[in-house]
Amino acid sequence: MNLNQANNYPPELLTIDAQSIHKLVPEPTLFHLDGKQKQPLFISVLLHGNETTGFLALQKLLQKYSKQALPRALSFYLGNTEAASQGLRRLDKQDDFNRIWPGTELPPTSDIKIVEEIVKIMAKKNVFASIDVHNNTGLNPHYGCITRLDNQFLQLANLFSRLVVYFTHPKGVQCGAFAEICPSVTLECGKPGQAHGVDHAFEYLNSCLHLSELTEQAVLPQDIDVYHTVAQVKINKDVDFSFDNPLSALLLDKDLERMNFTEIPAGTQLGQVFDHSTMPVSAINSKGKLVTDKFFTLIDKRLQLNINTMPSMLTLDEHVIRQDCLCYLMEKIKL
Ligand SMILES: [Zn+2]
Repeated sequence: MNLNQANNYPPELLTIDAQSIHKLVPEPTLFHLDGKQKQPLFISVLLHGNETTGFLALQKLLQKYSKQALPRALSFYLGNTEAASQGLRRLDKQDDFNRIWPGTELPPTSDIKIVEEIVKIMAKKNVFASIDVHNNTGLNPHYGCITRLDNQFLQLANLFSRLVVYFTHPKGVQCGAFAEICPSVTLECGKPGQAHGVDHAFEYLNSCLHLSELTEQAVLPQDIDVYHTVAQVKINKDVDFSFDNPLSALLLDKDLERMNFTEIPAGTQLGQVFDHSTMPVSAINSKGKLVTDKFFTLIDKRLQLNINTMPSMLTLDEHVIRQDCLCYLMEKIKL
């Protein structure tokens, strides 16, 4: 399969809903639109099919400039429209569209070749900056994620939120691939289906189109809170878990998602295990090493945190936990 590209978009794209785009754009497609400043802004949406805020914000942006010139050239990528048609992050037969970008640890596939080509094309076009728009399922504030602590990256993320997450794992994310060629950020816009998420993302994308440059100046420490992801937490594959069945191997606490972006003290319980001898979760650090013992302990069938930490992306959605992870654990960075 080759990468689809187009220099204009079907007018129906301005009004269609995310679940129906697949009929209009059946394959992942890269669109290029001219603008007053020639270096294009790159925006990717729907890398996860159920995360519709990015598409709706992009749609508002296209509506705004449907009859006037764009302040800057715009290249945008509509990712997993097939999964979007089913309201899913990805289909079971597919790789995660945000784990396949250059730097990925997955074996080569046609999807991987396609996104490699996108990065090459955008490098050739001397891309100005890259924005990948996502939602998450738990209760989380809006924040930007970056893979480099350079001032331009911090500026780009800080324009969206004072809350910024610096991460180096997992590999194969869009944001990390574009970080090699331009300032790059992933937006986390809260849960899908919230109008204020769409408005916030739209205002941000529109501001980025109007930027003439991203300065090398440092962001003032009082304007920004940067956290570093120190571990990704997964529930082990053979462990059945739930939020309501006391007979499951791991019974997770129902108020977990309230802990997102909150300092959680050592000793806090995340759930209870049925069999006290088996650790049900794995924590993986940014180098891909297992660090479960540093963060978790089992005491009297209680799954507890060993140290003070700040979680993000905790969700009550069992499907998401299975397909992605239970959460990330973070530490604050002093700039
Ligand atoms: Zn996502």
